[in-house]
Amino acid sequence: MTATLPVIIAGAGISGLLLAQHLHMKSIPFEIYERDTDMTTRGIGWGLTLHWSLPALRVLLPEDIFSRLPETNINQAAYKAGRESRFPFYDLSTGELQAATPQVPQNPRIRVGRQKLRELLATGIDVKWGKAVKDFTDNKDNVTVTFDDETTTTGRLLVGCDSRSSRIRRRICPDHEPYRIPIRVMGCQFFYPPEKLEGMGKLDPFFLQGTASENDSFMYFSVLDSPGNAGNTTGKYNCQVCVSWPFREGFFGSSEPTEMPPTKETKTELVRKLAATWKDPFRSFVLGIPEDTEFIGLDLTDFPPPKGLRSQGRVTLMGDAIHAMAMYRGEGANHAIVDVLEFSQKVTPLLVPIPRPDVMSAASPAGANVRSALDEYEDGVVKRTRPGVLASRRACLDAHDFARIGKTSPLLSKRAMLLDSDEEEEE
Ligand SMILES: Cc1cc2nc3c(=O)[nH]c(=O)nc-3n(C[C@H](O)[C@H](O)[C@H](O)COP(=O)(O)OP(=O)(O)OC[C@H]3O[C@@H](n4cnc5c(N)ncnc54)[C@H](O)[C@@H]3O)c2cc1C
Repeated sequence: MTATLPVIIAGAGISGLLLAQHLHMKSIPFEIYERDTDMTTRGIGWGLTLHWSLPALRVLLPEDIFSRLPETNINQAAYKAGRESRFPFYDLSTGELQAATPQVPQNPRIRVGRQKLRELLATGIDVKWGKAVKDFTDNKDNVTVTFDDETTTTGRLLVGCDSRSSRIRRRICPDHEPYRIPIRVMGCQFFYPPEKLEGMGKLDPFFLQGTASENDSFMYFSVLDSPGNAGNTTGKYNCQVCVSWPFREGFFGSSEPTEMPPTKETKTELVRKLAATWKDPFRSFVLGIPEDTEFIGLDLTDFPPPKGLRSQGRVTLMGDAIHAMAMYRGEGANHAIVDVLEFSQKVTPLLVPIPRPDVMSAASPAGANVRSALDEYEDGVVKRTRPGVLASRRACLDAHDFARIGKTSPLLSKRAMLLDSDEEEEE
C-alpha cells in the first residue's frame, strides 16, 4: 500500500517545515523528524533575508500562515514605519558607503529571524522531535528509515532536508565532499540597549556589512530581535556580529595564514585587533561588545551539486543538503524555498492523496513515474543552484579581497534565482 504510506521528511528546518505545510495543504500523508529536541536547542539562530523566493512562499503556504510572515520580521517597529533594510556595504577602513540595494517595493524583501520563521512554519505540524535520521534502506516499494535510537519507520519517499552536513547526502553521493572555503569566520550574539545601537541603527535598522580596504577583514551586523517585537521582554536589541578574514599568507602582517584562534579569549583578542583598524561606528560598536560574549567559529564549507547528480529509488534531497552555500549573497534559504516549489510542481502531482488501486505498487507504471518525477525535480534543482553556490563562493572570496569588490562582483550584484553564469569551480 505504498500510496498510503507517508512521505518521510528528515529535518524540521526551513525546507522540511515548508514541505510539511505544502503536503498538509494537499492532504498528502507525511511524517517529519528532527534531530533536535525542540525549536530552541541551538539558540535563536540568525537573520534571513527573503527576497526572490517570496512569490513561491505565497503559493506554498495557506493564506492564514503567509499573512503572518511580517510577525517574523526582526525589527517590527522599523518595518511598520515603512523602513526596510537597504543592505548597505561599507569600506570599514574609511567608513565610505560602497553600495546599497534599491528601496522596497522595487525589490520586495523581508528580513526575518530564522527561529521565528521556523515557529511560523511549524504551525499545525506534528514534528517528531529528538529523532535523528541515521540511515535508510530502499526497499523498491518503500523506504525504511532508521533513527539514532535504532527505531525505524517506513514511508513511500524519504526527503533529506537535513542541512549542510546531511547524512542522507553522504549516502547518496559518497564521492563528493563539501568544499572548505579558505576563509575563517566567527560570530557572536549579544544584547544592546537602544542607545548603544544609535550609530549603526542610523545606517540601517536591520543589517549592514563591509570590508576593510586596509586589510581585507570583513564584518556583518544583523539585528535578530528588537524592543517592541512580540516576545521581546528585555527591551534590548539582540544583535549578531560576524567577523571573517582570508586564510592566506600575509593577512594582517602575518607570514602564516591566520587560523581560527582556539579559545574564547584569543578569539575576542583577534576581533578587537581587527576592529581597532576600522572607522566608527563599526569600530566602537564591535569594541563595545559585552566582555562575556563568546565568539563561535563557523566551518565555512559549500556543496555545488555536481552536474548530473541524481539520487536513486525513493530518496531525494532538498535545501542545504543538496546545495549548501556560503551566506555572503544571502540566498540559501531562498533556494530552499524554491526547491519546495519545484517539488510541488514536479513530484506532488504523482503523490495522489486518495489511495488508488493503480498506484499501490511501486512496480506499477505510476510507481516508476515518481522516480522520473524525482529525476526531473533534481535536474531542476541542480541547474538552478549550482551557479548559485559558485556565485556565493565567489561573493565570499571577494568580500575578503577589497580590490575585487565592484558592481559586477556577486557580493554586490543583484540577487536572482537564476544566474547566467556557471563559472567553473576554482580551488
Ligand atoms: C549566518 C547565516 C546567515 C544566513 N543568511 C541567509 C540569508 O540572509 N538569506 C538566505 O536565503 N539564506 C541565508 N542563510 C542560509 C540559510 O540559513 C540556509 O540556506 C537555510 O536555513 C537552509 O534550509 P534547510 O531547510 O536546508 O536547512 P536548515 O534550515 O539548516 O534545517 C535543517 C534541519 O535538519 C535538522 N537535521 C540535521 N540532521 C538531521 C538528521 N540526521 N535527522 C533529523 N534532522 C536533522 C537540523 O537540526 C535542522 O533543524 C544564512 C546562513 C547562515 C549560517
